[in-house]
Amino acid sequence: MSALPIALAGIGKIARDQHVPTLAASTDFELVAAVTGHEPPQGVPAFRTIGAMMAAMPQVRAISICTPPRGRLALVEQALAHGLHVMIEKPPAATLNEAEAFAGMAAEAGRTFFASWHSRAAAAVDPALAWLSDRTIHKVTINWKEDVRVWHPGQEWIWEPGIGVFDPGINALSVITRLLPDTLMLEQAELRFPSNRQAPIAADLRLDSGGVPVHVAFDFDQRGPQTWTIDIETDRGLLTLADGASRMAIDGAAVDVGDEGEYPRIYRHFAQLIAEGRRDIDLTPFRLVADAFLLGRRVAVEPFEWT
Ligand code: NAP
Repeated sequence: MSALPIALAGIGKIARDQHVPTLAASTDFELVAAVTGHEPPQGVPAFRTIGAMMAAMPQVRAISICTPPRGRLALVEQALAHGLHVMIEKPPAATLNEAEAFAGMAAEAGRTFFASWHSRAAAAVDPALAWLSDRTIHKVTINWKEDVRVWHPGQEWIWEPGIGVFDPGINALSVITRLLPDTLMLEQAELRFPSNRQAPIAADLRLDSGGVPVHVAFDFDQRGPQTWTIDIETDRGLLTLADGASRMAIDGAAVDVGDEGEYPRIYRHFAQLIAEGRRDIDLTPFRLVADAFLLGRRVAVEPFEWT
């Protein structure tokens, strides 16, 4: 089968780091156009809007949207109006209502929609799910701590209300909501806001999943080594997911889970959804973030500066 012509919208850090190289190696898709206000990937024609792209290149069949969450709704509307299959980066949208609108819009347009969670495609997630399937979980501890200056250099949108440390934190929530059999309920949250910003730089959450306590620490100001770890204590051993669930250990002993990256898996899944005429929109991690803002105690901390 020939590769499906796909466009990328929003040629920022993640588009260049992951989407462009993944599409270059993909047999399912061919990157044929970019919707951007700036520089397109080398050799790819650029358009300011989806409408302009479709007027010039009606052969485009799908679009992968890599812009920040605020403003996605308009792009999704335009993409579906032009009959494109749509994949979006996480977090899915600016608000729950926007994100919830996507399913109906895609169904009405009769197109595939994939609200992706790249961390769910990390190499250790499926092996962890299999290992946990016949065990009883007692406790979960999540430490997701990174340096915003390294991963989002100069990106002011990251400090818009509602984002901040939940931009990486939602990746951990996307993994744990895949692994735990029972619904996660938020019980308590503390959100730490720099005194000069409208979004939290750190958060502690206490959740419960069918009686299993889940303790979460998010930090966006971690210099030096970065920490993306989930520890799951069970009746028969401790499962540790490290490096964003790309590595796995049982009682401290490493388990080989291969080294395939997240994005090839994501695009394979998108291709499969298109082939089967299906949609994949799970908003559970996004709902937990919204609950953290509903319930969270707000604490002011020192101002954030990029340097
Ligand atoms: P970024 O470097 O700031 O790039 C975002 C791009 O979106 C910009 O280059 C711009 O594209 C376009 N854009 C449209 N409206 C914008 C606005 N109001 N403000 C800024 N840019 C706007 O961001 P990113 O790190 O690639 O993140 C994009 C999405 O991917 C986010 O949802 C993020 O959570 C997710 N993500 C990021 C990472 C990471 O490591 N950074 C990892 C995984 C997922 P043009 O220049 O083409 O006009």
